[in-house]
Amino acid sequence: MLKRPRRLRYQQNLRELVQETRINPEDLIYPIFIKEGREIKQEIPSLPGCYHLSPDDCLREEVARIRESGLKGVLIFGIPAERDATGSRARESDGPVQQACRLLQSEFPELYIITDVCLCGYTSHGHCGIVEDGRIKNDSTLPYLAETALSQVESGADMVAPSDMMDGRIRAIREKLDQSGYTHIPVMSYAAKYASAFYGPFREACESSPDFGDRSSHQMNPANAREALREAKLDLEEGADIIMIKPALAYLDIIYRIRQQVDVPVAAYSVSGEYSLIKNGGQAGLVDSREVLLETLTAIKRAGADLIITYHALDLARELNKS
Ligand SMILES: [Zn+2]
Repeated sequence: MLKRPRRLRYQQNLRELVQETRINPEDLIYPIFIKEGREIKQEIPSLPGCYHLSPDDCLREEVARIRESGLKGVLIFGIPAERDATGSRARESDGPVQQACRLLQSEFPELYIITDVCLCGYTSHGHCGIVEDGRIKNDSTLPYLAETALSQVESGADMVAPSDMMDGRIRAIREKLDQSGYTHIPVMSYAAKYASAFYGPFREACESSPDFGDRSSHQMNPANAREALREAKLDLEEGADIIMIKPALAYLDIIYRIRQQVDVPVAAYSVSGEYSLIKNGGQAGLVDSREVLLETLTAIKRAGADLIITYHALDLARELNKS
């Protein structure tokens, strides 16, 4: 007898009933950029629709829109007014992220606040760690990362997300938080973060391009998959609660493989280049950007991601909630 899979495709209602993967606003996390200063709301040219926001009314108004859309969580990046060799503004209690956390925690208590932990946006050389003799030093960077995470949590962050890719940073942060009474704060690890060309627009958004060299001594080689499994395993041993893969679209196999190997939630960061390509492709009339976006996010979820961090989150959540 002929097998007929098409029976389940003839009607729209039935197709929806048997659909295996769906995108919900609850799956999405929206990245926001906090710029130190007052009354700043500047659209980021490389990320149309996303803004640099100062931690005052400008942030307040944008987060009110975010909450109305049905999104639950934001991932916060900071852009300091001044940079130095060790990235002091990353860990000072009046740093941009800390100011934003305090404001959001008091005025939007139901919002879930995740903070990015790295030094590259705060160092004068633009690298993710402490530089000595022209090299990014691993172990001497760890205390700075731990201090940064602690300071963010003290200011109101609900979760910290280290993105630096130094070895041992999850353990250093976990120990620091535990010693300080924050045993309940989860750590989302950028476990498999690749040295990717898809980060271009973000570097402009965070003004964080390195002034010499690149990030390939700590971020992963895009050609490697087994290494990602090793990184994920190590981060879990060190205490990570959620494992993240970044970027997403060119790394669906990594999301899938990690999903098969771990039993914690898996997050995928659909990065700035993915956003800009889809957005610009739509504006140029090359593709239907809405359809391409939904297909892309569905693929990321189908590969195994529970959470998706995306610059499309706000637009998409508004749209999903309307329908
Ligand atoms: Zn970094």
